[in-house]
Amino acid sequence: MKSISILGAGPAGLSTGYHLDREYSIWEKNQQVGGGCRTEKVNGFSFDYGGHIFYPRTKPVKTLIRKLLKNDLYCMPREAWIYLKDIYTRYPFQANLYGHSVDMVKECLLGLMQAKLKYGEKPGRFSDFKDFIDKVFGEGMAKHFMIPFNKKQWGIPLNEMTVDWMGDFVPIPSLEEVLDGSLTMAPECMGINASFIYPKKGGIQTIFNSLVPFLQNVNTSSPVRSISLNNKSFQVQGHSTQHYETLVSSLPLPELVRISDPVPSEVKAVAEKLKWTSLYVVNIGIDRPDISEKHRVYYPEEDFVFHKLGYYQNQSPDMVPKGQSAVSAEISFSEYRKIDKTHIIERTVKDLQKAKVLSSDDRIVLTHVLTLPYAYALYDHHRGRAVARIKEFFESHDVYLCGRYAQWEYQNMEQNILAGKAMAERLNAGIGPKK
Ligand SMILES: Cc1cc2nc3c(=O)[nH]c(=O)nc-3n(C[C@H](O)[C@H](O)[C@H](O)COP(=O)(O)OP(=O)(O)OC[C@H]3O[C@@H](n4cnc5c(N)ncnc54)[C@H](O)[C@@H]3O)c2cc1C
Repeated sequence: MKSISILGAGPAGLSTGYHLDREYSIWEKNQQVGGGCRTEKVNGFSFDYGGHIFYPRTKPVKTLIRKLLKNDLYCMPREAWIYLKDIYTRYPFQANLYGHSVDMVKECLLGLMQAKLKYGEKPGRFSDFKDFIDKVFGEGMAKHFMIPFNKKQWGIPLNEMTVDWMGDFVPIPSLEEVLDGSLTMAPECMGINASFIYPKKGGIQTIFNSLVPFLQNVNTSSPVRSISLNNKSFQVQGHSTQHYETLVSSLPLPELVRISDPVPSEVKAVAEKLKWTSLYVVNIGIDRPDISEKHRVYYPEEDFVFHKLGYYQNQSPDMVPKGQSAVSAEISFSEYRKIDKTHIIERTVKDLQKAKVLSSDDRIVLTHVLTLPYAYALYDHHRGRAVARIKEFFESHDVYLCGRYAQWEYQNMEQNILAGKAMAERLNAGIGPKK
């Protein structure tokens, strides 16, 4: 029987184990499972690693979630908003112009129509993400939201990004929907996550904790320090040498390359050029209930250091102590967008006051910062070839890549679970993952 080791106990690693029909072990550096879908508990407040909501669309994932959590879930329509020029409008911007000044609405509609006249309904190929925005949304929407917001979130000039990540993550409303959204306030959000589910208790991590009873040999607090590709073994801090026949890695790709040996210099060189965005999540606890009725608010303007605010207590009241509230500010940083961490809390609080989320007499009862070194793998023009070469190299050593940071993709939780399922099914069939 082949021995299978899985590195990382985030959604992808856990799902791989769950779907395997043979013996395996899982190795995770953190004390808890869940990876990027963990939830930190601090003084009665709970904070996800950046706002997480679950919006499963496929039958296997829906069935799994129901099996794991039964009725311990809330299901609700998503309240996602944009704060721009001192007013709130619904997200996404392109379908919800209602409420903005007549001049701005006119500029956006005119730009959209000019783009449609020039490039047609389906402009075809795009040289980069900026080209996509210009051709699909036109000058006005590009100027007021699409370019400033995306530059802030991704932390990279948009002409350096491809459109390979998009799938249906960026809603493209019809002309009729844009006109409707300019004339009246839409009653609800649009897009793939217009409604979502969320655990009643324990934050998003509850979903992944609930997988553990169905798994075997889960080793937490077990950082993998090095992998010997020739010996097919790896070293884990606090454990003896582990041997494998097949290794499934959900580790971030740059980390896998760094700890593996031998890796040809040409593979190391392509890996060194991979780019990503990191994130600070600045969490603030406030001694006042109900500071907002929204779930998420997007901030395209550079006046605010954050690009997104989340109010997790509106996903579940279990996330904050009774009578109090929290707001979580997401702040991207990268080699292009440098952010000084030293004063990040003060700057966030100041900008929250500027945005009228906090008032000067609000009593702050907690400040807390989470740092996510890998938040978004960047789809620059180098990514496609680099990932293909790194994957090919590792697969030739029976090391298979699975998950958002291992495949260096813009995956969500559902896609991680499906990636783990697909990986396990191929290993169950004894044929090794698809090349
Ligand atoms: C800000 C933000 C918001 C998001 N919001 C949503 C959302 O609303 N909905 C949604 O569906 N998805 C969302 N996502 C995506 C979701 O978080 C990821 O898809 C998911 O966490 C990726 O799972 P994974 O298993 O592929 O990787 P990870 O969760 O990163 O798991 C990899 C694991 O490997 C471990 N590891 C790393 N190095 C080692 C080592 N040397 N030894 C042992 N273990 C190691 C890590 O600790 C980690 O547990 C969001 C992501 C971000 C960044």
